[in-house]
Amino acid sequence: MTAIHLENLVKNFGAFTALKTMELTIKDGEFVALLGPSGCGKSTTMNMIAGMESPSAGRILFDDRDMAGVSMGKRGVGFVFQNYAIFTHMSVYDNLAYGLRVRKLPQAEIDRRVKAIAEFLQLGPLLNQPSAKLSVNILQRLAIGRSAIVEPAIFLLDEPLSNVDAAFRAVMRTELKHLQRQFKQTMVYVTHDQLEAMTMADRIAVMDHGVLLQTGSPVEVYNNPANTFVAGFLGSPGMNLIKGTLVHENGATIVDMGEFGKSAGLSDSLATTANAGARRDVFYGFRPEQASLTADETGLPVFFVERIGARTIVHLGRDKASVKVVLDNDNGLEAGMKARLTVNPDAVRLFDAANGAAMREI
Ligand code: ATP
Repeated sequence: MTAIHLENLVKNFGAFTALKTMELTIKDGEFVALLGPSGCGKSTTMNMIAGMESPSAGRILFDDRDMAGVSMGKRGVGFVFQNYAIFTHMSVYDNLAYGLRVRKLPQAEIDRRVKAIAEFLQLGPLLNQPSAKLSVNILQRLAIGRSAIVEPAIFLLDEPLSNVDAAFRAVMRTELKHLQRQFKQTMVYVTHDQLEAMTMADRIAVMDHGVLLQTGSPVEVYNNPANTFVAGFLGSPGMNLIKGTLVHENGATIVDMGEFGKSAGLSDSLATTANAGARRDVFYGFRPEQASLTADETGLPVFFVERIGARTIVHLGRDKASVKVVLDNDNGLEAGMKARLTVNPDAVRLFDAANGAAMREI
């Protein structure tokens, strides 16, 4: 098993910098998701780990081995792409067996491993089927099996679920996590889908515009985002971020949010942090599930109630300047009503409005 060290990794394409000085260690057996919007540099990072692209600067080490000049084939990595690379003229069995035959394993061992992985990925009944006739969902499952079967020390997956349907994606999230637990590979998973990253990864590395913004466990990154971008990108809906000004009132530090009113007094530790800085312009942040609403004629206008089954997302304010609160589905609020917002004081996060950085509690 293998740890991956990215040391001051940079990638330029001509004058364009796709990756700016990335510093990241992925521990042996760890599942790390590279998460960010399209074009942020996730695939570029992945391709350099795989050996498909060379870094412009910096180093990639597998344990203590520098990968400079080591070809893709010699790195011992398994790679699954968004577009499954399957030999359609072969049967499911032959696709799964391919990598083992190349490695000249004995037939009995090939048979054992093909049957084991086929059972794990529910491909058992399809082993003799020609691959050409399989659905997209099954083809992607087969592509994962074909890479996993050779038990690479490092397993790289680049948006493997983006072409499969939603129900199957949910199943595969669980299966991929089980697969990694079983084989204990070091896994790097590229995705723009925060839910995939949150549900599968041990740690998430959030990227934007070629910059690694924050690394942490899903809960750490969700609860304590390093900046407004991470706060908004994680969660569905993302964190509410209301522009406001720090003011003192009746001995308490509060945030005046204009049309959204004044916050309750900040917790002592957050007030200490806020008052230690020179900045008065902030974003007042809280997760949509960390607030409650009470019908109240003096409150904020409810302009949209979005029912998503067990939960309801209530939109307050106006279209362009809205706050979202996630409530149970029997909350009784309807568009056109007014509601008073109460935020859980422990869930409040403040961000510097000038640069979006979190004001960390001290
Ligand atoms: P996506 O999911 O859309 O692929 P990504 O985060 O994986 O997004 P990358 O594919 O790593 O993004 O691309 C990062 C940036 O580098 C993009 O602006 C892309 O256009 C650019 N880029 C990638 N490969 C090349 C290349 N070979 N030549 C020039 N620019 C490139």
